[in-house]
Amino acid sequence: MIDYENLGLLNKPFFEEFKTAFAETLEGGWYILGNKVKEFETAYAQYHGSKHCVGLANGLDALTLSLRAFNFAPGDEVIVPSNTYIATILSIAQCGLKPVLVEPDIHTYNIDPEKIEAAITPRTKAIMVVHLYGKSCEMDKITAIKEKHQLVLIEDCAQSHAASFKGQLTGTFGEFGAFSFYPTKNLGALGDAGAVLCNDDTLATAMRRLRNYGSDVKYYNEVVGVNSRLDEVQAAFLLVKFKYLAQITQHKRQLAAIYQEGLKSDFIKPVVHPDYFDVYHIYNIRHERRDALKKYLLDNGVKTDIHYPLPPHQQKAMEGIIDGNSYPISEEIHRTTLSLPCSYCHTKEDIAQVVKVINNF
Ligand SMILES: *Cc1c(COP(=O)(O)O)cnc(C)c1O
Repeated sequence: MIDYENLGLLNKPFFEEFKTAFAETLEGGWYILGNKVKEFETAYAQYHGSKHCVGLANGLDALTLSLRAFNFAPGDEVIVPSNTYIATILSIAQCGLKPVLVEPDIHTYNIDPEKIEAAITPRTKAIMVVHLYGKSCEMDKITAIKEKHQLVLIEDCAQSHAASFKGQLTGTFGEFGAFSFYPTKNLGALGDAGAVLCNDDTLATAMRRLRNYGSDVKYYNEVVGVNSRLDEVQAAFLLVKFKYLAQITQHKRQLAAIYQEGLKSDFIKPVVHPDYFDVYHIYNIRHERRDALKKYLLDNGVKTDIHYPLPPHQQKAMEGIIDGNSYPISEEIHRTTLSLPCSYCHTKEDIAQVVKVINNF
């Protein structure tokens, strides 16, 4: 059986270094906002050429606090793609803001820049883009719209560590780049973790305050904050894993290349274009008979996943939060998409085997 993902196997090459990192943290005796968090923030900011990185508890908080930092008024609107993971939309809802959904491009699965301007109203304050599956959005067109309409730009980079557009890393285009280090992400911790990147000193200060009870000086609270600190021990693990991000990325790209070359044209494959450096957080294909294909693969020893089975606007929890419109392109993607094994834990032989099985469908 070929697993879709196997976190124990994925992390195995790093076990010894993780053990050392854990022992250092344990013996160091400082478990919240210590040197490991600082070290990781510095390294992650530096890698991106960003002025600041602020470590947070998870990716959802990275998105939510990015919005909170601007003190938008309740009911202000945030433009967001109609096909994304629910967390993106939840961050907007949590701030009392209104998500305004814009359809994706059917080929890239990312927000269609040509459709953004039609969704802008006098209440629009921000665009929250999602670099889905590890492919950057079309950031030249999106930053032009942001500039023209003077909107805040927040990037959901939970699936796009090390991905870039025209040579620029995702997370560096907007006021905030919001990252998740959930264990399955391309840069994954051993528990929940997240961070934001930003270049503005005032915004960075606001973020540090928000994550730590709204406080700059212990026991003096400036704003209503939350507890969303990156754990010291997770930062220690992330420092280990970060050294191997390029290697992890390269491996996933090699596996994706095997699919791209080997899969028959019956399956709609991800588009590849020289402007985009894709990191394949998820390697998806699309097929009319997706559910039958999924079952066939399972019967033949290949586990797969679906990202995602139900679009946000059809989720029960979103009643009254998202308008009642239909989003046919998003629905089409959700109906036909299938995620194939493409993890650091897989070998090239595993993927060649999947190709063989799937081509016989
Ligand atoms: C994983 C993910 C998140 C949320 O990250 P958590 O760390 O689980 O809170 C947000 N957006 C997208 C697109 C994701 O894939």
